Amino acid sequence: MSSLSVPPPQCLLQPYTVPHRYLLGPGPSNVPPRISTAGAQPMLGHLHAETIEIMDHVKSGIQYAFQTQNRVTLAVSGPGHAAMECAIFNSVEAGESVLVGVNGIWGERAAEIAQRIGTRTLSTDYYSTAEIALIKYKPVLFFLTHGESSTGVLHPIDGIGELCHKYDCLFLVDSVAALGGTPIYMDKQDIDILYTGSQKVLNAPPGTAPISFSERACYKIFNRKTKPVSYFLDLSWLANYWGCDGKPVRSYHHTGPVTGLYSLRESLAILAETGLENSWKRHKEVAEYFHNGLEKMGLKLFVEDKKARLPTVTTIVAPPGYEWKEITGYIMKNHNIEISGGLGPSVGMVLRVGLMGCNSTKGHVDMILQALADALKHCHKSRV
Ligand code: PMP
Repeated sequence: MSSLSVPPPQCLLQPYTVPHRYLLGPGPSNVPPRISTAGAQPMLGHLHAETIEIMDHVKSGIQYAFQTQNRVTLAVSGPGHAAMECAIFNSVEAGESVLVGVNGIWGERAAEIAQRIGTRTLSTDYYSTAEIALIKYKPVLFFLTHGESSTGVLHPIDGIGELCHKYDCLFLVDSVAALGGTPIYMDKQDIDILYTGSQKVLNAPPGTAPISFSERACYKIFNRKTKPVSYFLDLSWLANYWGCDGKPVRSYHHTGPVTGLYSLRESLAILAETGLENSWKRHKEVAEYFHNGLEKMGLKLFVEDKKARLPTVTTIVAPPGYEWKEITGYIMKNHNIEISGGLGPSVGMVLRVGLMGCNSTKGHVDMILQALADALKHCHKSRV
């Protein structure tokens, strides 16, 4: 008689084969074989010499992708949200003020994260009003989303960092959905904290999130009066774990996603081989080709101003008369392609298509245009 009251689950006693699917939603994007092969290499200890060498390569790759010389540059163990919390938890203390530029869900979420740790959080819908708020509320941090994947908006970055510094405020940018697909220059654009995710343009599996901190940000963070609320995301620990603090020994803090770092190294290697500028150019050209194709089909782009369109994630006005879920469901079922509906403020209003990294090709555009045309022909349309 077994002593176990819970038997082995039947579902685990047979193999599970994951299907291939075209991931053309806002992320994750497909992982090319070169990156998944890198991630399938043998496990090593998280502080073995080779792992540390890989972490150093990852650090150099992030410095290249971000265009920064920042010493404190690393990958947080976790998804984009982990980097978001790492940035906010470390750079502000309870009682301080944070200003958040809101152009979709990510600004809303950053505001909530900042509120949860007891900061005074103010939102501004556009950075042109930011100077007034910088003067009036004296925030210590200004958060902005570079590529708003919920609305498909690409936010300009130039000049904002300089403005923040004039008022002794740090400039934090979320480029999870844009980095690698459209220009951003951390040092030249005076960005103090910049983060991205691994699973968008970089085409690595989710679970590692590149982040970098300027000297100005480090000065504030390493001179805090109180400890950050999160032990796991405490930058003093992370900077040591990633060998960014100049100390001769890296101590155990947590067990990093070792194989995830192999994959991230490979995706950064692909970006380095491709060249950032070539990657930006390709994403722009492919996005424009896609946008022209959509307009030719009679579909409308949600972001009217061409300059404000994010090249990595396109938002299409939900076709009138259709149920958007039927369209995304049809495309998944009949074309094996994932696209998605809106998120946060854009729910019910848009369809979202991501063309990121290896998925940013004209071939992928032709495939999704054909799938959309087929869906519009076969999905139920009411009179509008
Ligand atoms: N910021 C932006 C702009 C995003 O698009 C996303 C992911 N959709 C995130 C943050 C959060 O990333 P994750 O899902 O990896 O936590």
